[in-house]
Amino acid sequence: MIAAVDQRSTPVSVVGAKRDYISHSAITTYQQCPLRYRFKYVDGLPERFVSSNLIFGGAIHSALEFHFTELLYGNEPPTQDLLLDVFQDAWRGRSEDCEDIRFGKGEDHTSLSALADRMLTTFRENPASASDDTVIGIEEELRGELIPGVPDLLARIDLLTTTSDALVITDFKTARSRWSQNQAENSSSQLLLYSELARRLLPDREVRLRFLVLTKTKTPTVEAFDVKVNRRRSHRTVQVVKHTWQAIQAGHFYPAPSPMNCPSCPYRSECNA
Ligand code: SF4
Repeated sequence: MIAAVDQRSTPVSVVGAKRDYISHSAITTYQQCPLRYRFKYVDGLPERFVSSNLIFGGAIHSALEFHFTELLYGNEPPTQDLLLDVFQDAWRGRSEDCEDIRFGKGEDHTSLSALADRMLTTFRENPASASDDTVIGIEEELRGELIPGVPDLLARIDLLTTTSDALVITDFKTARSRWSQNQAENSSSQLLLYSELARRLLPDREVRLRFLVLTKTKTPTVEAFDVKVNRRRSHRTVQVVKHTWQAIQAGHFYPAPSPMNCPSCPYRSECNA
């Protein structure tokens, strides 16, 4: 089945009913499955279930954001209990509208709370939690045109810091297992786009990119990976977004079934129909 949008639609309608910008996650959704993109961003269909991974990752993000917000205001790092309270508040906030939360095998809210406790303990003990860099922004939004004719890119930067000579963009990740430097480089398209945006908005500053990866393993780890800003790779990433956008605008919304994406897709009923 090929689902095509009404060709009379304006470009805004294929970005999303209430949007006039694109995001890295929307582009990635299209690249994984164009039909899922349509269901989510064009048709605005409600998701039939939410993965606990998504809620868990968001709640850990909220705890890290709270930690760095306290540093931004010159306060002492928050206690473990406070971080856990933030995690639980965020979990409740994100889950109260979800009628169907899908947990992984052997997981429930209690086991994930215990995991969050271990991960946040490891984070607080890691040097990355007491960065020497100056925190200047948390969940900072940057927005601007990267490609003429393509809607603005909206970047939500988890952590923005400065050193004496550079602006550092950090993205928080929760992962099933430890990353390698190679994996960080291969996952850098989002950061490369953000660096392009930052470079255009602040042309005089050197921009550095970093992942802070917390693992959801029995014994969690916290590792920072710096990613090289390579102009050739940045240019290629921008071109990939440009061509992805052209495919979206042309209404190419076909299903791309895969054992990786379909089991966790909240639109399986609509897709089967
Ligand atoms: S079920 Fe699979 S093919 Fe269908 S929309 Fe979802 S990800 Fe795409």
